[in-house]
Amino acid sequence: MNYTTLCDWHKLHHEKALFGRYITTSHIQPLIDQLPELFQVKSLGYSVEKRLIQSVTFGTGPIQILGWSQMHGNESTTTKALFDLFRWFATHQDQTEVKHLLNACTFTMIPLLNPDGAEAYTRVNANQVDLNRDAQNLTQPESSILKEAYTSIKPDYCLNLHGQRTIFGVGSPAKSAIVSFLSPSQDELRTVTASRKIGMSVISDLNEMLQQFIPGSVGRYDDGFNLNCVGDTLQQLNIPTILFEAGHFPGDYEREQTRCFMFLSLIRVFESVLLLKSEEIGDSNSYFAIPENKKCYFDCIIRNVNIPQIGVTDMAIQYEETLKNGTLYFVPKIAQIADLDDFVGHKELNFHQKEIQIPEGMQLEVGTNLENLQANSNLPTTFSVKSNNLL
Ligand SMILES: [Zn+2]
Repeated sequence: MNYTTLCDWHKLHHEKALFGRYITTSHIQPLIDQLPELFQVKSLGYSVEKRLIQSVTFGTGPIQILGWSQMHGNESTTTKALFDLFRWFATHQDQTEVKHLLNACTFTMIPLLNPDGAEAYTRVNANQVDLNRDAQNLTQPESSILKEAYTSIKPDYCLNLHGQRTIFGVGSPAKSAIVSFLSPSQDELRTVTASRKIGMSVISDLNEMLQQFIPGSVGRYDDGFNLNCVGDTLQQLNIPTILFEAGHFPGDYEREQTRCFMFLSLIRVFESVLLLKSEEIGDSNSYFAIPENKKCYFDCIIRNVNIPQIGVTDMAIQYEETLKNGTLYFVPKIAQIADLDDFVGHKELNFHQKEIQIPEGMQLEVGTNLENLQANSNLPTTFSVKSNNLL
């Protein structure tokens, strides 16, 4: 496929009913209800708070691909990408290449596995359980629904679709980790097994494709083994599983750019899978050549600022995503006050040892909410965080 053409298509024709970070059942249900004939919708069960969890299946081929998004309720970028993908398949199903995909594969996607977490904009479900640590104990209905799905479908490949925070960078000097991937381990030794190798091979293809759009901004996620994670569990069952982490494109807190890269990556996975011949898979080197994610970013760093009682230092600010009355706000809070030479800010300011003016009685310390500081201080307007989704 021509990925530049796909990217152009995405700019114009992505699912516009979905926008921003706060994506819930009420946003996606009308879209699921209107899916054309190509798609079969199945009810899989209910969340703790009795929200419906559904799957969308399309294609008729023997290769079974199972994906799920928003297992962490506040990681919605890949959900948007899935609905873009549905639109793309619906409008391109008569094209030879697409027909080929649909005849070779059966795709089953669960767009919203944790609807209660999505509603509350939290990582965890309504019982405060991280579903990605519940793969063995299966204490939650959402975990059982996913297990039932992979037990009945017997997927050849799984796609575990997530989003990552703005703190991750790759390379040196670091660039934002706009997208990261992982072929999870299936044992403590992180052995490169046949199943892992297949995932690695697919991820290498993804990386190669993405480099033309976001050079130096693709990361490899930490492969520490934890059987309570779904990916590790599936990999241990010898089902190649690919973890997607949608990250931060500079300036794009809505994750509308990253959404496009996720869309392209999904299509690239399907293409890769079709081309895979197990005897040919042997190259894990290009996978390991992808730089590992490191925690080296803050949303904002103010350098060389003179803080009363502390002196000249650096100050890092991290936005706390906060849901209030159905609207998501990005609340700036002090994350660190220290020498931050080893860190990068998505936004950087240099105070050149100038004192920061703060209202009387305000303390600058880790955790301080800076929402109202700008109006009352000498912070320049470039720092401005107008909440309400738009920065
Ligand atoms: Zn996640």
